[in-house]
Amino acid sequence: MSQTPIHAPPEVPLLLPTRLVHHEYTPPAGFAALQPAVHKASTVLFPNVAAMRAREWKDKTSYTYGLHGTPTTYQLEERIATLEGGLQCLLAPSGLAAISTVALALLRAGDEVLLPDNAYSPNKALAEVELAHYGVTHRVFDPLDPQDLAAKITDRTRLVWLEAAGSVTMEFPDLPAQVRICRERGVTCALDNTWGAGLAFAPFDLLGDGSLGVDVSVHALTKYPSGGGDVLMGSITTRDQALHLKLKLTHMRLGLGVGANDAEAVLRALPSIALRYRAHDEAARELARWLAGQPAIAQVLHPALPGSPGHDHWQALCGAAFGGQGGAAGLFSVVIGAQYGQAQVDAFCDALQLFRLGYSWGGPMSLVVPYELAAMRRCATPQLAAGTVVRFCVGLEDVQDLRADLAQALARAFG
Ligand SMILES: *Cc1c(COP(=O)(O)O)cnc(C)c1O
Repeated sequence: MSQTPIHAPPEVPLLLPTRLVHHEYTPPAGFAALQPAVHKASTVLFPNVAAMRAREWKDKTSYTYGLHGTPTTYQLEERIATLEGGLQCLLAPSGLAAISTVALALLRAGDEVLLPDNAYSPNKALAEVELAHYGVTHRVFDPLDPQDLAAKITDRTRLVWLEAAGSVTMEFPDLPAQVRICRERGVTCALDNTWGAGLAFAPFDLLGDGSLGVDVSVHALTKYPSGGGDVLMGSITTRDQALHLKLKLTHMRLGLGVGANDAEAVLRALPSIALRYRAHDEAARELARWLAGQPAIAQVLHPALPGSPGHDHWQALCGAAFGGQGGAAGLFSVVIGAQYGQAQVDAFCDALQLFRLGYSWGGPMSLVVPYELAAMRRCATPQLAAGTVVRFCVGLEDVQDLRADLAQALARAFG
């Protein structure tokens, strides 16, 4: 295979600084490596004006500018679309940037957006502040009551956010029922699919027969796709070309892009995502079951555990994953009994040595965060026991060490 130079300098005498810039470059011949390369660029050169006018980045048939895509980002978009069962994908600099891009693309003054009461809190904050400034109103619905969602859809509703499981309290909704309601009412529904990660269930094929799926799936690639706790990135996946184009043009006008090294880090981690997800899931289920038997724990919130809010919906949607083991992320919460005060709960979290205090999840290290639920919820929460919610993200440590860490911290804080 003969390679042509990507850049050949003009044949006139040039001074060194110019020669260093206009240096001939030919990629290595026959370097047919499987691993995608890190392509870094702002400028992409055109051979002539006709090519400059003819090139089209929107359908990925060519390259026009680094922000519009590189071989590295195109490759990652295609693989995330594959992971999610979608057809098109956009990358954003964080999961939250992916969420805000969907909102800005689909909502305008006078519209209303609906969110589940257990939505990722920054998504709610976006609606409360920025979207309100732009004349977009919002309301929250009970994630466990599809009829509440149906009742809140009006002719101003343009977008419904869905989350399965919900953030922090992990209630698992009847996702197919929620999507069917949106479909019947002609409202676009966007799922925050960070928990399911494309592995626990198929967001664009909820019933397994191709008949029902969400319109948009947003994924914080920061979590399992990265897997390292070292990348911030988000994705917006769709199956409808017109909807994708609408999102893509807003994404382009907002100037969103991701770094090539970060894209490569996610590409590198993606092949092991199913193995890691399964390992996080197994360890989390084991610890959640063990915690359910501890006297200080009033309730364990893990959708794969019978008795957890929405467990039946989890079973129906995710139960077939991983050869019938079911799929769930390595994330769960507990309610520490109301007889213990805030200081004791804080002391429990502080006493943990392997579970470190910190936000986010999906990386190798286990993390813990105590939450003040009252400030986060508007709907009544009869599904939750009284007490303080503590969320655990289970990493890749040995599960016996993690259990011992929980045991010593429980003993220290609650006696
Ligand atoms: C972490 C997270 C996000 C946001 O991702 P960032 O990359 O941290 O902005 C969105 N949704 C859910 C459910 C998350 O857990």
